[in-house]
Amino acid sequence: MTLIKSISGIRGTIGGAVGENLTPPDVVKFTTAYVRLIAERNPGKKLTIVVGRDARISGQLVSDLVEGTLLACGADVINVGLCTTPGTEMAVITKHADGGIIITASHNPRQWNALKLLNADGEFLSDAEGKRVLAMAEEESYDYPTIDEIGHVLSCEDFNDEHIRQVLALPLVDVEAVRKRRFKVVIDAVNSVGGIVMPKLLRELGCEVVELNCAPTGEFAHNPEPLPQHLTEISEVIVREKADLGVVVDPDVDRLAFVSEDGSMFVEEYTLVAVADYILSENPGGVTVSNLSSSRALRDVTERHGGKYYASAVGEVNVTTKMKEVGAVIGGEGNGGVIYPGLHYGRDALVGTALFLTWLAKKGMTMTQLRATYPSYYASKNKIELTPAIDVDKVLREVKARYAGEKVNDIDGVKIDFPENWVHLRKSNTEPIIRVYTEAKSMEEADALAQRFIAEIKGICGI
Ligand code: MG
Repeated sequence: MTLIKSISGIRGTIGGAVGENLTPPDVVKFTTAYVRLIAERNPGKKLTIVVGRDARISGQLVSDLVEGTLLACGADVINVGLCTTPGTEMAVITKHADGGIIITASHNPRQWNALKLLNADGEFLSDAEGKRVLAMAEEESYDYPTIDEIGHVLSCEDFNDEHIRQVLALPLVDVEAVRKRRFKVVIDAVNSVGGIVMPKLLRELGCEVVELNCAPTGEFAHNPEPLPQHLTEISEVIVREKADLGVVVDPDVDRLAFVSEDGSMFVEEYTLVAVADYILSENPGGVTVSNLSSSRALRDVTERHGGKYYASAVGEVNVTTKMKEVGAVIGGEGNGGVIYPGLHYGRDALVGTALFLTWLAKKGMTMTQLRATYPSYYASKNKIELTPAIDVDKVLREVKARYAGEKVNDIDGVKIDFPENWVHLRKSNTEPIIRVYTEAKSMEEADALAQRFIAEIKGICGI
């Protein structure tokens, strides 16, 4: 049983003791603190907040608590019901709301839920705003408004169709080109809200759709994180159905992975790489951004188009901040998170799918042929367990000093870019561990590089 409070919201398991899980009093406390932050930003204004949720079993329960609390705090509510994370973000923008709350624990298992907090741009709160919410949640006293100031539900409406409409209206989404290819697509939505949205989007694009785990029951058919080891079922169905490709989304539809026609993984790191390849082909010399732990393939593809690649700290808000700073035409995260500023600054599997299929149609290739056009890198993800007594920051400083002659980036842990491979070392804020991510041109090399650094760090720590 766990409750994790962070600047991006609160996440916890349903049931159990208050303050140690995501219980009703915890939901009320954090929702109240969030409204107070938005009120501080908009003195004297009657606030409107969008509420959306994924298909988790606890979704209705948490949504009712959030909605009631918002009304009690004097905010009006637009409830978009079952809606993806990017859809809820788009609703905040489209409805000119003052903020939004998405009720989803993303790729975490069924017993989890969380509140993701949005600003008036439909983007995640900044570090400072998140800290302010956490601080206000710890204050015991707050006077709720009286009867004449309580909020009202302005509307309960579906926003998914409008989100699809806006995706298909993008100039770089070539609906006709995709329709002509008549792709046969297997979609695995892990029995969450993607099951409502993704088949609809694909059919609008003229695809023949085979639905897998598309009933939005919240009973996840497999581990909901779209990693290769969890995607065995879709591989079999693609081969059996002779489909052109498979599409996999996580429960709140901000992560996107593809599977090729032979059942092999396109690999989620390459979702962003392929979409960026398309966007850069239309914007030669354009700038791209991903986080430090993402594949070097994005840098390579960006440079092929004469563009410049930038790395940001890990975390969606850090990626979008960097994208705005450098004027990126496309960006995101290696975990299948595509951020296309032409629509909005949020990871969006719908826009990712529509742009990807446009690219695949324009290239006239199969999935395996397209994949073969990208440089192959292999990532190894490991961690070192430490004791709480070890000063992790000091260890990382020591590593940095030892590799001062190399290309080192220390905006988020320590990333060392060697000519042929890289290592990224990050501490965890919740556990005494160091994450050791490496990438190289073969799996053996990536594993060997990780083992070398694990041994070196253990040496520094004397363990
Ligand atoms: Mg997610």
